[in-house]
Amino acid sequence: MSPREQLCEYGRRAVDLGLVIGTSGNLSVREGDLVAVTPSGVALDRLTPEMCPVVDVAGHLVEGDLQPSSETPMHLAVYGTTDARAIVHTHSVFGTVVATTMTELPPVHYNALMLGGVVKVAEYATYGTPELAANVRAALEGKRAALMANHGGVTIGGTLEEAFELTRLLEWLCEVYVRGLGVGKPTVLTDEQLAAVVERALNPPEFPRL
Ligand SMILES: [Zn+2]
Repeated sequence: MSPREQLCEYGRRAVDLGLVIGTSGNLSVREGDLVAVTPSGVALDRLTPEMCPVVDVAGHLVEGDLQPSSETPMHLAVYGTTDARAIVHTHSVFGTVVATTMTELPPVHYNALMLGGVVKVAEYATYGTPELAANVRAALEGKRAALMANHGGVTIGGTLEEAFELTRLLEWLCEVYVRGLGVGKPTVLTDEQLAAVVERALNPPEFPRL
């Protein structure tokens, strides 16, 4: 699938899974110095490949009749400072709940390690601004995910599939934490417990053959 076809495919999945509603949320894929991004003002389940603009990493429109997503400066800022090849940004419910009530998502499940452990909430700034782009870039340092205060969440990956799966994981972790708060006080994993998970993942036990 071409980058623009991927945007259509994962845009549909994002809507199907309820990660975005209306025209909210945006996705992008980087190939070399070019970035295919979802357009402004079109619901993600109604995209066609031709609708998706292509910009260069400096932010010039290279291809397409529609304007790139208003959050394109944030995507470009992240590409400028990470090895990401794809970015997913949504206003998913539980991610946004955490982003409006907390300053970080503590690791209450070991799968948080796939996002880099603690997920930081980037300081609030108006959507589409260079300030928001800078805040998100800072919150993403050394991580695969960040939340955006009073706004939503963002994940990065080596492929759009990976970034999308990390968005699903981020939403799941936020849901577990928020639902946990309704039941009691969620226990946060210690650095030692998380280090043990990394150790285990790096050295899986081998089952002896008969
Ligand atoms: Zn947004």
